[in-house]
Amino acid sequence: MNVSDYKCISCSANLRFNPQTQKWVCDYCGASYTKKDLEKAYGTDDNLKNENEIKLDANYGCYNCPNCGAEIIMDDTTTATFCVYCGSNAIVKNKLKGEFNPSKIIPFKTTKDDAIAAFKQYKKGKLFIPNEFTNPQNIEKISGIYIPFFIYDCDVESDLHIKATRTTHWSDFSYNYTKTDYYNLHRNASTHFENIPVDGATKFPDDIMNSIEPFNYKDLQDFSPSYLSGFLSERYNVDINELFEIAKKRAIKTSEDEIISTITSYGTKTITNKNHNVKKNDTSEYVLLPVWMLNVKFNDNIYTFAMNGQTGKFVGNVPIDKKKFWKYWIGIFSGSLIITSLLVILFNLL
Ligand SMILES: [Zn+2]
Ligand SMILES: [Zn+2]
Repeated sequence: MNVSDYKCISCSANLRFNPQTQKWVCDYCGASYTKKDLEKAYGTDDNLKNENEIKLDANYGCYNCPNCGAEIIMDDTTTATFCVYCGSNAIVKNKLKGEFNPSKIIPFKTTKDDAIAAFKQYKKGKLFIPNEFTNPQNIEKISGIYIPFFIYDCDVESDLHIKATRTTHWSDFSYNYTKTDYYNLHRNASTHFENIPVDGATKFPDDIMNSIEPFNYKDLQDFSPSYLSGFLSERYNVDINELFEIAKKRAIKTSEDEIISTITSYGTKTITNKNHNVKKNDTSEYVLLPVWMLNVKFNDNIYTFAMNGQTGKFVGNVPIDKKKFWKYWIGIFSGSLIITSLLVILFNLL
């Protein structure tokens, strides 16, 4: 099974997508190409949409580099990676067909240097960050990954019954008074939601993916495998119906919060009865979104730093190194013990 690559049209060296210029560049001869130039040379890939995925053979996961022929091993969900021997892009068009053909993509807008700078800023002030995260060789491993997301549009009709209270206090010469009024409120609302993103790959932690939102969907472009040049890419591996359930929960929660936030001038507000009717619109799409990611193993756990490849918003769950933490405090404690002992000796001498 072979993989595809986009090569420089004039010198055949590797091409990579440059987030700064939004063009494909050749680092060897300096040429740069637009999407139109590449489509002229390599065709449009329009057929990917309608073709069924070809079932892969027993050598599933083994591919040959189009450039040097070396074997490239990848997961069955990986759709783009590199050849470790020659650095060529390896894009598996076979895995981007039919239901796995993304309709849109937000191309990277930030560079690897931006991601490294963000990581350095993130670890600034974190005294006890494990050495694994400060090792420059590990930091170099920050990779740009296109993560599969489904974005949903839906309408939510909400009907809420809310018990609310309003409490007033006053005093006279003899007593302090507290008066609580109880109210039964009823609210109806329709809320329209656009582009609720849900991460479709189990490989990536959902909390991290939620934290680097929002993406600006104005930048969505029609998908072409050429955008994957120079990046890693994954395809979804979860049940699409389950994904909509996640989007639905988010829409309902947001809708409830919005309704409650419009009820002001009450002390407490408790929802006593609720009914939501969610209608999914047909405009939902399978898209690839850009994320810079650094995964580091520490004490048998994987910790992640992630940056939104479009907006630069970043987040991490990097742990503190307990050994470093105790060394630091024992250092301060023993330091102050020495100073105290010195002072005691000094006082005794006087
Ligand atoms: Zn070139
Ligand atoms: Zn190769």
